[in-house]
Amino acid sequence: MSTTPTSTIKKHYRLFRPNAISNSVASRYQKPTHYFGFIPEPAIENFFTGRIWSRHNTPFPPAKIETYIIRGYFEITSAVTTKPNLKCRRCLNEQRQKFISFHCAKCQKTCHYCRHCITMGRMCSCDELILWENELPRSRIQKSHVKFTWRGKLTVHQQKAADELLTSLKQNHNHLIHAVCGAGKTEILFAPIYASLKAGKRVCVATPRTDVVLELYPRFQQVFQNIMIHALYGGAQNDTQFAQLILATTHQLYRFENAFDVMIVDEADAFPYTYDEALQRAVMKAKKADAPIAFVTATPSTKLLIQQRNEKWGYSFIARRFHGQLLPVPRYQALWNYEKAFHKQKIPQKLKNWVEQRLQNHQPFLIFFPTIDLMEQATSLFQQIEPTIESVHSEDPDRKEKVLQLRNEERKGLLTTTILERGITIKNVQVAVVGAENLIFTSSALIQISGRVGRNVQYPTGDIVFFHHGITMEMDQARKKILEMNRYE
Ligand SMILES: [Zn+2]
Ligand SMILES: [Zn+2]
Repeated sequence: MSTTPTSTIKKHYRLFRPNAISNSVASRYQKPTHYFGFIPEPAIENFFTGRIWSRHNTPFPPAKIETYIIRGYFEITSAVTTKPNLKCRRCLNEQRQKFISFHCAKCQKTCHYCRHCITMGRMCSCDELILWENELPRSRIQKSHVKFTWRGKLTVHQQKAADELLTSLKQNHNHLIHAVCGAGKTEILFAPIYASLKAGKRVCVATPRTDVVLELYPRFQQVFQNIMIHALYGGAQNDTQFAQLILATTHQLYRFENAFDVMIVDEADAFPYTYDEALQRAVMKAKKADAPIAFVTATPSTKLLIQQRNEKWGYSFIARRFHGQLLPVPRYQALWNYEKAFHKQKIPQKLKNWVEQRLQNHQPFLIFFPTIDLMEQATSLFQQIEPTIESVHSEDPDRKEKVLQLRNEERKGLLTTTILERGITIKNVQVAVVGAENLIFTSSALIQISGRVGRNVQYPTGDIVFFHHGITMEMDQARKKILEMNRYE
């Protein structure tokens, strides 16, 4: 069995919290000075356990928070520490160019704020964050009440991966689940998560994509009952309860520290997680120092695979979909000068034929576009063929609804950006990529997109076509990897 990379994790963790207590504000309050006989209110404990929060902007009356501060229940820190260099205490960003310095009206000095996590509210060097110092009393975690109501059956491959993951988590080992699109990754997580919850552990399932949180939340609510589950994403309501199971976008982890006993990162390779070291640090910060991380993905980066091997994490590999059928293999179709055609208000003929074929066969379809601009030009043209065709992109507030309408057969097809490359399942969906040669379509994006096809056991096959203006290495690599998976027994 593999050895624990705990020492590495601890070392990293220390790196992430060097100035935690050393700043001048914190030293004003000696800790711990919990007053004898004082019992903290459950509501305060429930909310703050594992959270790092703005001192002056909590869901509780400020005077109440101050009484807890005086009693030493909170660690206090500047939102942006300045020594030895600028560092955001919330997202751990240290890149100088991501800080803005300005004359601050509040402190009458030059103050700094971090641009990197500004979407969570502006915090500058004279603002303070508070961090609850204690663990929640064990009795508060309703471990004996968790009810596991999933009655599905795992395939042999899924069962093996679930057992392996459970073993890793029990031993606090990191783990990588590398499973093709449609292998049934979420079901693999159920039993190991249940075991962790039953053991009184706090579990986080983090994913870079809001859509994935929204897709997972109702499924988890169904499977785990008698337990508080929170779904956290940009724009979600702030819940003040203590949740033993949290589904969150990786961004939301900025608000946690030392909180989780088990951390699962789903779709570990999805944008922006892979490109953003701050998000990776957020994962490390949000979990407890010796808590294991499990990564789950169909398309692990080379870096992740190397790390898994070097640090001897647990590893599960599934090349087969849950229904046992092969992965649909993308075919290429040249669509020369498609951009010009759209500019001239014309749908390229081959693409038009493809759509008409889908309509005739009553098959729902997704067409991926490289840019919002091009997609919007195309939308009105497609609507002339079929008025229910719509388009979605990341800023579209109605995106959830439109996908639902496609699923319910109220719409025949959707045009989309890469926003729908993962996390969605639509029965019998047929998929086309327009401009597959565009740089935005990396091999993993193309594998994920191809992975939308044939997921349903009643419709295990389907068409996936890359319409292109020239074949790229990324396209070839995607195709090669899919064929490779199909060769495994
Ligand atoms: Zn920040
Ligand atoms: Zn200031």
